[in-house]
Amino acid sequence: MRKFLRVNSPIILLENYSAAIPKPRWQVYGERYAERRAINKSFEFTWPQYQRKPLNQLLMSSLIQQTDSHCSYCDAYPLMSADNTIDHFKPKSKYPIEVCKWENLYVVCAHCQKEKGVNYDEKLLRPDEQGYDFYHYFYYDFTTHEIKILWGLPEEEAQRAETTLQIMNFNHPAMKESRRLSYEGFADRPDFPPNHKTHRFMFE
Ligand SMILES: [Zn+2]
Repeated sequence: MRKFLRVNSPIILLENYSAAIPKPRWQVYGERYAERRAINKSFEFTWPQYQRKPLNQLLMSSLIQQTDSHCSYCDAYPLMSADNTIDHFKPKSKYPIEVCKWENLYVVCAHCQKEKGVNYDEKLLRPDEQGYDFYHYFYYDFTTHEIKILWGLPEEEAQRAETTLQIMNFNHPAMKESRRLSYEGFADRPDFPPNHKTHRFMFE
């Protein structure tokens, strides 16, 4: 999981919903979804429409900009059209109010969406949280292609790293194989544009 800086929220989420409802749009959407879920636990979330376009489509360019079109979690590149899914870091079932909150949204590949699913733990590391860096918590084992936790971390940080590896399932065999191929393809290519490499943290 490579560090990135979150870009400013698209204005559409922050501006008032309407003159009659002077609250940020993300909050109104969240409250509406929370109300519906309170009545019906199985109420499915669908992205609200804004000016006849689904909100997720309107947010995608900003989400992709901040990761240079890589998966926010595993750094896979390029994101395929089927990968253009938005993960709710805090799952919408338990945190319905945050369903459209900018800081809760991450563009991810289909694999990460499936692995993380609705799992969440307060210890889970965020790639855009202050102070996060891959090499602060992890190291890369270039023989097994596993992501491993650094020795000697303070207990709380070690727990966060462990929780993150478990929930994201970064050492799933398919993930390891994908990183092995990436390493073999790019390790001897210093000329290759860094942002067009997959799993960039391996080469940094
Ligand atoms: Zn991914």
